[in-house]
Amino acid sequence: MEKVPITVIGAGQAGLATAWAANRHGVRPLVLEAADRPGGSWPHYYNSLTLFSPARFSALPGLAMPGDPERYPLRDEVVEYLRDYASRLDADLVYGSRVEQVEHDRAGFVLTTADGSRVRSSMVVAATGSFSQPHRPALPGLEDFTGTVLHATQYRAPEPFTGQRVVVVGGGNSGVQIASELADVARVNLATRSPVAWVNQRPLGRDIHWWFTRSGLDAAPLRRVWEKGPTPVIDDGRYRADLASGNPDRREMFTRLDGDKVTWADGTVERVDALLLATGYRPALDYLAPTGALDAQGHPLHRGGISNSVPGLGYVGLEFQRSFSSATLRGVGRDARHVLRRLLARARR
Ligand SMILES: Cc1cc2nc3c(=O)[nH]c(=O)nc-3n(C[C@H](O)[C@H](O)[C@H](O)COP(=O)(O)OP(=O)(O)OC[C@H]3O[C@@H](n4cnc5c(N)ncnc54)[C@H](O)[C@@H]3O)c2cc1C
Repeated sequence: MEKVPITVIGAGQAGLATAWAANRHGVRPLVLEAADRPGGSWPHYYNSLTLFSPARFSALPGLAMPGDPERYPLRDEVVEYLRDYASRLDADLVYGSRVEQVEHDRAGFVLTTADGSRVRSSMVVAATGSFSQPHRPALPGLEDFTGTVLHATQYRAPEPFTGQRVVVVGGGNSGVQIASELADVARVNLATRSPVAWVNQRPLGRDIHWWFTRSGLDAAPLRRVWEKGPTPVIDDGRYRADLASGNPDRREMFTRLDGDKVTWADGTVERVDALLLATGYRPALDYLAPTGALDAQGHPLHRGGISNSVPGLGYVGLEFQRSFSSATLRGVGRDARHVLRRLLARARR
């Protein structure tokens, strides 16, 4: 069986940043990617998606985003940028190669892919994101709801909902943005557990990411502070204005669903056509189960991206892995460098 020094699973931004970090240490990694191209989940995000950070703060290490650094790039620009980034790496990038299982023994790891191929690797970095594991909350009556139910992962554009009554569940960035664009063609409620928490996109004329970077907050381990309240929604004023207009109409989370009806917290019952769940994601790491690297809920046991239980195993791209920007374009490179440095230092001991 072939043996390689390091295998990265996933060629999204996290996997590509990890491969770049490996190159910096003079290592050529094997990168196994289930899809037939690099770039991860970006091509599957909704059509109108515009980055919440300017190009200047949206690049991976070693390659600036082209064009005006102050502009907010579109989804397809990120797709193109990541494709270009991948083409510059010194890596063995293998597409159409889904890792089904990882096993660990004293000699290292054995990875088995969907076509039955096996590869031995001294180190493994899991960079498989969470888009393939959409979280569907256990809402009373959801399983028997007779209208359309879809997760934000399945949403592309508002047109199919023209003239409908839609409830978007979840008050994070995706929920607010999707509700706002749906309101151009549909009657929309935004159902959230607490009022939307806003963050001004450009305080004192500078983008918020400039302030995050300048203050050092971007790299700070703020998980506890961040998780205390609702996810802050970055806004230049347009989403607040949309909600103030009454469509979308933000309401406290409904108490139950019944057939095609929703019962609101004040007892009002209304018929709706579609329910759109913007309710987040969970890490997609099932393939690691045989190694004992996951807890009972399937979450990785790690500190700063280094596995607590399996030597030689690291993670890149987990939410709040080391900071609140860990799972973003601007933050993932910092974590990739850290994880590679730690894994390689251990291997050289
Ligand atoms: C709607 C939305 C908007 C966002 N907007 C922004 C933004 O404006 N700015 C920002 O910085 N961040 C944003 N993010 C957050 C984050 O940057 C993206 O989610 C990003 O795509 C995560 O990259 P990743 O590489 O960790 O995961 P992914 O992009 O999901 O890539 C994971 C890769 O792993 C592959 N894979 C999965 N399982 C396996 C397996 N078993 N074997 C082999 N390959 C596998 C997948 O095919 C995929 O290519 C947004 C996220 C969402 C959902």
